Amino acid sequence: MAEKREKPYIWVTWLTKLLVGDNSCEWAAWFKAHYQKYDRVPDTFDSAKWQMQHTELLNRVRVDLEAEGKTVFIERQNRFTLKGAIATLGGRPDLIAISGDRGVIYDVKTGQPTPSDHVQVMTYMYSMPKAFRQYREMAFDGMVVYHDHRVPIPAAAVNDSFVSGLIDLIRKVGSPEPLRKVPSGMECGFCPIASSECPERMEGNGKGEGDNEVSDF
Ligand code: SF4
Repeated sequence: MAEKREKPYIWVTWLTKLLVGDNSCEWAAWFKAHYQKYDRVPDTFDSAKWQMQHTELLNRVRVDLEAEGKTVFIERQNRFTLKGAIATLGGRPDLIAISGDRGVIYDVKTGQPTPSDHVQVMTYMYSMPKAFRQYREMAFDGMVVYHDHRVPIPAAAVNDSFVSGLIDLIRKVGSPEPLRKVPSGMECGFCPIASSECPERMEGNGKGEGDNEVSDF
């Protein structure tokens, strides 16, 4: 049974698909921000396999950067908690490489590329100088690492427009007023919130109600 949090807590990845428009159900992020220990659908995702692939790719990146003489921090060393008046924002960049007064935030992705991957790294680029004293004066670039290519993100991408969009969404998700619920087979199929918590949940395993066959073409 869901338990109300004392203060809204938002994990970075709950925001990124909303920011780029890949997800529409704002209620899912709002609910997770305001409640914990909620009923979840059984996890069919092969997390052990994902974890092994992710760790292998991350280790390759780490070894290369260390060979170049960079100072490298990985995963739990990078966990941050930004406590605002409305909500707390939490996240954990995969890897940070420091060289002199420049830093690069790396995030490793084993799935298909999506724009939300870039926004996730940009949110880390915004957060790290605010979270860690040693990074306060540091400008971070970003890098999304896929198994067959990389996408660099310049520090300038984290501009006023991005920051204001991010802060607006944090304020919305952290507000006491529940946000818009948008059930769809596609989105509910990837949502962990069980129908006992969200009765409007549509079961579809990624298929929508609008999927059908026609003979017109
Ligand atoms: S189950 Fe569907 S409608 Fe309910 S919160 Fe998740 S995405 Fe939104």
